[in-house]
Amino acid sequence: MTARYAVIGNPVAHSKSPQIHAEFARQTGQDIAYDRLPAPLDAFVATARRFFDEGGLGLNVTLPFKREAWSMVDAHAGGALAAEAVNTIKVEGDRLVGYNTDGKGLVTDLQNNLGVQVRDRRVLLMGAGGATYGVMQPLLEQRPALLVVANRTPDKAVALVGHFRQLAQLTPGGVAAKSYAELSDAQFDLVINATSAGLSGEMPPLPDTVFAQGAMAYDMVYGTDTPFLAFARSHGASVADGLGMLVEQAAESFYIWRGKRPLTAPVIAKLRSGM
Ligand code: NAP
Repeated sequence: MTARYAVIGNPVAHSKSPQIHAEFARQTGQDIAYDRLPAPLDAFVATARRFFDEGGLGLNVTLPFKREAWSMVDAHAGGALAAEAVNTIKVEGDRLVGYNTDGKGLVTDLQNNLGVQVRDRRVLLMGAGGATYGVMQPLLEQRPALLVVANRTPDKAVALVGHFRQLAQLTPGGVAAKSYAELSDAQFDLVINATSAGLSGEMPPLPDTVFAQGAMAYDMVYGTDTPFLAFARSHGASVADGLGMLVEQAAESFYIWRGKRPLTAPVIAKLRSGM
């Protein structure tokens, strides 16, 4: 019988996850169906529960529901406990288990696909939503020189840094929350945009001195040349969008659900060529 999966979010129409999982299924000979599942902003839990009640075996969770998904599941695994954000739900017996594969996806894309090492780099991470929570631990485990988190609503960045304070020892320069205005005298080797600003054609208010010589700018938003990437390029940084992360985190989800590891490089290449 065809096993049913979906990506749940709001908005979700832009998601490329159905194409990616269809490619993975073809590669590995798995009989699955993978759809988009839009959820009203006030009805994430009801929409997800209906999907599982009707026989669905797993969900990917995208914005803005990753933290709600963390509260909804019966148990946490694979990095989701520390992240307090879930992007992958799997039916395991009579329980829903929540995982987070975003951080692994980001680090794999940076290191394996883009050749960017995080170790000893000064890292700026923008945003304090579900995606940021998901990538904090995997980024810190790479031992950057320091990690600064900036967010439009500064209190959320302060709360996030407080949440991960025990992991701050992994980086010699520590972990700090700053407002965008406080970045005017700082430079970074790796600037990661984990905000959704690019989806609405906006970017966080970054000072134009933020990129160190040879810096890399990474936008988790994919499929569009965001204002942040254009800004970074015009200030001498090399740039990458979040397509590779998307495929890498999807491969981790696929492995959790199906126990098969798909090849990611051909899927990234296919998506880049317009699939
Ligand atoms: P979320 O929980 O809704 O958080 C959104 C974040 O963006 C918040 O920190 C918000 O700041 C900030 N923000 C929104 N509009 C902004 C603007 N105009 N200027 C500055 N900051 C702004 O979303 P999420 O789940 O963390 O996802 C964030 C983005 O990452 C989404 O676009 C998502 O598609 C993308 N993502 C991509 C991948 C991938 O695999 N490539 C994986 C995960 C996420 P406030 O706190 O002030 O509201």
